[in-house]
Amino acid sequence: MKVLVLNCGSSSLKFRIYQMDREELLAGGLVERIGFDDARMIYRPVGRESLEKTLPVKDHEKAIDLVLKTLIHPDTGILGNILEIEAVGHRVVHGGEEFTGSVAINEAVLERIKACVKFAPLHNPPNIKGIQASFWLIPFARQVAVFDTAFHQTMGPEAFIYGLPYEWYKVHRIRRYGFHGTSHQFVAHKAAEILEKPFKSLKIITCHLGNGSSITAVRHGESVDTTMGFTPLEGLVMGTRCGDIDPAIPLHRMEEDQLTPSQMDALLNKKSGLAGITGGDNDLRTIEEKAAKGSERHQLALEVFTRRIKKYIGAYAAVMGGIDALVFTAGIGENSDTVRRMVCEGLEFLGIEMNETANRNHKTRISDGKTSVLVIPTNEELAIAEEVIEVLERENQLVK
Ligand code: ADP
Repeated sequence: MKVLVLNCGSSSLKFRIYQMDREELLAGGLVERIGFDDARMIYRPVGRESLEKTLPVKDHEKAIDLVLKTLIHPDTGILGNILEIEAVGHRVVHGGEEFTGSVAINEAVLERIKACVKFAPLHNPPNIKGIQASFWLIPFARQVAVFDTAFHQTMGPEAFIYGLPYEWYKVHRIRRYGFHGTSHQFVAHKAAEILEKPFKSLKIITCHLGNGSSITAVRHGESVDTTMGFTPLEGLVMGTRCGDIDPAIPLHRMEEDQLTPSQMDALLNKKSGLAGITGGDNDLRTIEEKAAKGSERHQLALEVFTRRIKKYIGAYAAVMGGIDALVFTAGIGENSDTVRRMVCEGLEFLGIEMNETANRNHKTRISDGKTSVLVIPTNEELAIAEEVIEVLERENQLVK
């Protein structure tokens, strides 16, 4: 069965197509600058030459149409016919409390996804546009929504309620939701496979460290706490997002500098985090290079970044009453041995004893202690495609 995975951002579309019988990637790519005359499509069919094109792409529907035409093109295509796509998996950022797992999309489900726009006004609308365009352009395929928030819906109220007026939760549903759920679930599962232990028997802390970063405590197969909150702004210090701060600080700056809420929102989301501390650099490779050359601010950024991660590892070990495995994933987690070393330093009391050679060589197992430390590449697109298959199997409608 061939499954197309679509991830629609505000001006971009990322796609991958898999042959799921063999979990084989057939092609992938992206369209960026959607809405502009100089949009760019990058198409990477596996085992064949990649293609890049600059052309006007008006909206997400046109972008999906372009992808489909490329997929069936006699020269570039990997499909004989669009009908070969039997299912489409859509990444949806926010499922609120409505969605505790992935679902097949129908009119009623789409309405419920629309009701979650208020929680993610920037992210959910392009996701919805992608779903609507996909229904229109690939009407014969089953459409499935996979939510970033769903894995965290197992958190109890002691983890998701804020110390705020309770009515805000009752009336406005203001609570911790958590994000990156597909990735946390995927790597936690993989960790259990690697350790050859039942998923439901383990206490795992998963660190998804990329431009956006979050940590999740996965106890006995379920998310019991996570660092991102009502929005992806909370928790770790990220590339350009501030993470945890004293909430009085933005109020203070808004009053002093006469800033509007949207100006403050941009400052906290786009000008803070590592970029804020370093004075503009948010890419961890650059930060490591400049720190190694003696830049104190870049070294400080690294220390602030890794200390926050360490604090949450301690907190989540306490919340779960122990830890069997610590997992590093995503761009930084998979590639930066420096960050992994700085995070694990001093965690011997948790059974974490880093094997420096294994760490430097980016091996899967990098600890000699009783707690396993694992480096596991995330693959959110494949995880979405797997969810699609599961949903369809559950609904007993899988057409092989
Ligand atoms: P996102 O998907 O959130 O945009 P990624 O998971 O792709 O982010 O991670 C991007 C981050 O990973 C960047 O900060 C980048 O510098 C970092 N990164 C990628 N490769 C390396 C590397 N070899 N060493 C250190 N950091 C790396």
